Amino acid sequence: MLEVQDINVYYGAIHALKGVSLEVKEGEIVSLIGANGAGKSTILKTLSGLLKPRSGAIQFMGKAIAGLPAQEIVKMGISHCPEGRRVFANMTVEENLELGAYLRKDNEIKSDLEKVYQRFPRLLERRKQLAGTLSGGEQQMLAIGRALMSRPKLLLLDEPSMGLAPLLVQEIFRIIQEINKGGTTVLLVEQNANQALKIAHRAYVLETGKIVLSGSAQELAESDDIRKAYLGA
Ligand code: ATP
Repeated sequence: MLEVQDINVYYGAIHALKGVSLEVKEGEIVSLIGANGAGKSTILKTLSGLLKPRSGAIQFMGKAIAGLPAQEIVKMGISHCPEGRRVFANMTVEENLELGAYLRKDNEIKSDLEKVYQRFPRLLERRKQLAGTLSGGEQQMLAIGRALMSRPKLLLLDEPSMGLAPLLVQEIFRIIQEINKGGTTVLLVEQNANQALKIAHRAYVLETGKIVLSGSAQELAESDDIRKAYLGA
């Protein structure tokens, strides 16, 4: 579904991604793990068109997408749920969700809104509440719900568990798994490698802008190097 070939991404003089290649197959949950600053968010931003690679190629469903405008990429079926949630604080829950469908022209938006409310009953209770007044966990649910409103084929999730209490972390990972079982492919960036490897099919490990390891999530979870570096073993 997604194939990234040897991309190089810079922030000015900073070489943030150094020849990164990876692939995501339809139906998978693939996790990107790595320390702070390794380049995980940069990969997602490049895939969603917020950054342009200086070289390399990105193919999504057989089409070259590197450097396309972000709204074109959303229309093709990639939705990015950014780090820190970035909900529109002064708009209601429902307005935030409707904005997720901004580029759609079909007439199933209302029924998708109902589906998001079924998945996140908390958002239904709070549909008229300003998003800025939601708790951290509720904002994360809203950010995921908003991303789903574009009907993505591939959902990019950046640190969905960040800052959440342990029970909510479990809940968010359970919801990600459900979304995946419903047919959405997921590329998941996580600091919480333990949890991410529990729900992912495969994973890539990133260190200072390079992929240093990849494999099935189970293989990586059992590897001594990974356990020492990322799983606190
Ligand atoms: P974290 O888990 O801390 O979010 P990350 O793996 O997602 O880390 P990135 O945010 O992708 O890391 O950052 C990769 C590198 O690029 C870092 O060295 C970071 O300082 C640098 N970087 C990120 N954004 C910018 C920017 N706007 N300008 C300059 N450098 C940046």
